[in-house]
Amino acid sequence: MPTKLRIATLGIHHETNTFASNKTTMAAFEQSGLQTYAVQRGQQYYDMHKSAQTSMAGFIQASEKHNFDLVPLIFAATDPAGTISKQVFDTIGGEALDMLRAQGPFDAILINQMGAAVSEEYPDMDGELARRVREIVGPNVPVAMTLDLHANVSQLMADMTDALVIYKTNPHTDAVPRAHDACDLILRMITENWRPAKWLEQPPMVIGIFQHDTRVMPMKAVIDDLESVLRWPGVVGGSVGQGYPWSDVQENGLACYALHEDSAEQAKKAAQWIARRAWSNRKELYQPAGPKPSEAVAYALERASVKPEKSGPIVLLDVGDNIGAGSSGDSTFLLAEALKQGAKSWLQTIRDPEAIEACLTAGIGKTITVKVGGKTDSMHGKPVQLTGRITRISDGRFEDAGIVHAGWRFFDGGTTVVIESDEGPTIALVTTRVGNMSREQFYSLGYRPENFDIVIAKGVVSPRPAYQPIANEMITVNTPGATSGDMSTFQYKNVRNSLYPLDLNAKYISD
Ligand SMILES: [Zn+2]
Repeated sequence: MPTKLRIATLGIHHETNTFASNKTTMAAFEQSGLQTYAVQRGQQYYDMHKSAQTSMAGFIQASEKHNFDLVPLIFAATDPAGTISKQVFDTIGGEALDMLRAQGPFDAILINQMGAAVSEEYPDMDGELARRVREIVGPNVPVAMTLDLHANVSQLMADMTDALVIYKTNPHTDAVPRAHDACDLILRMITENWRPAKWLEQPPMVIGIFQHDTRVMPMKAVIDDLESVLRWPGVVGGSVGQGYPWSDVQENGLACYALHEDSAEQAKKAAQWIARRAWSNRKELYQPAGPKPSEAVAYALERASVKPEKSGPIVLLDVGDNIGAGSSGDSTFLLAEALKQGAKSWLQTIRDPEAIEACLTAGIGKTITVKVGGKTDSMHGKPVQLTGRITRISDGRFEDAGIVHAGWRFFDGGTTVVIESDEGPTIALVTTRVGNMSREQFYSLGYRPENFDIVIAKGVVSPRPAYQPIANEMITVNTPGATSGDMSTFQYKNVRNSLYPLDLNAKYISD
């Protein structure tokens, strides 16, 4: 009887906003808002994902279905934030590679990345990790890399792996089936001693954050084109990397990737077909949109005043303070408008450890006057003064067993305090930058977003699975911040020379 295949998995999952002021250090990996154990080793990596809906959950299911030994080495994830320190890559990357050497040999490797990681030393940290894995295992061991749809895919990532497999949905709800796709490819490579022909095509264009939802046009058309290509004869795989705009790196932008049975020429034809069609639609695929904070709050108040009872809140999506894209989580542009315009029934989070300290000193049930938010940097508004009663003190941990963006299940907001302000808004002060992508965040504090007129969600697409089911209406607000939807507000220095829309006359030359 042949011995069981041994397939290793490792990953450093990070979406790096190179414009954000909050650097990603070892401390960020040690305390993450995404999961209780931010650095997971061996069995812990397995256990934290077994019941989740992540890529690793898909690897685990595939190992059971196809009866191979999945060897979990190490996985590190933390919330999107600023550039990763050299120490993080040296420490966690070093440990991953040591484990790969010590526990091998393996029949294949599954690298579990987000795909937009930037470290102080390596602008393409994902590619560098793949290069080092390849160096250890040699040219003959199949290596696949799974990626988030927001990956900025580099040629190095394509060259150092045998298959890249990227989510097709945003909100991300297909990590599990895409992980199965990666495993199917890898198993065929091992058993048939076969490798697919591959091609990466990078049209010089960025897809705007307002256009990132794959369920609606114009992004839906790009994914539909990918689905068409996947039905072409001989095409055995393919992906589109939507890209992550807030990254000042060479590979920022759309990536189209195809795998063919045996012809690099055919893989190229498939990838270029998707790329050319997206390019011809580049203007629709990049449109900064949405009302300004003052307009959005005025509109929401007007709507709330006439909406029928129990028809759900107006959810304002704070684009410039998109926690899931690396922002600070303490923007006050919308809250300041709430006070100015007299909004009463209003619910939101603000990250502010300093204000939490003051509340803990005052104690539960007490009334406090405190300045909240706007403390991380100068990009997210000024601190806002509120007076109110401290109604909750919690450890900030919550769990969501339902459908959540990217399949996360365990969340840790750190010490959390709720203030019901005399001015009107109810503010949950949180310690970590946990994104507003689960209603459990408020349920766990005893508040129902359903009962408020206006709820703020700091994000664009990731809050939608949680809030769409209860919202009367969701409005993307064009707020300033580290994740502003307007690329012209940032100084890019390292992107490709001619990249649309930074260069409106950009040319796409494909042979
Ligand atoms: Zn993503």
